[in-house]
Amino acid sequence: MGQYDEVREALWTRLAELGAREEKVQRDLRKLSHPDSEERAQEAENDEVLEDLSDLDRHEIGETQQALVRIDAGTYGLCERCGDRIPKRRLQAVRFARECLDCAS
Ligand SMILES: [Zn+2]
Repeated sequence: MGQYDEVREALWTRLAELGAREEKVQRDLRKLSHPDSEERAQEAENDEVLEDLSDLDRHEIGETQQALVRIDAGTYGLCERCGDRIPKRRLQAVRFARECLDCAS
């Protein structure tokens, strides 16, 4: 058992959640872009919101995958800039944190 087994599991769970949401967003987007609809303006607004959400999700998916790679590589929990150990509390708040608080600020 590695020391980050629990984190790894949490990251996988999150990845599955994000993947499912991403699919739903894509479905909604297709629905909204249906050409015969009457409420075009409203749709355009919704489209933007959905795309923003989707970008955020995609960012988190990327970060989460990177964190999983770092767990396997043995570099998870170490600051990418100064090499210090990232405080546990920070990792609990942001599971995919790559930098310690000093370097991130
Ligand atoms: Zn640092």
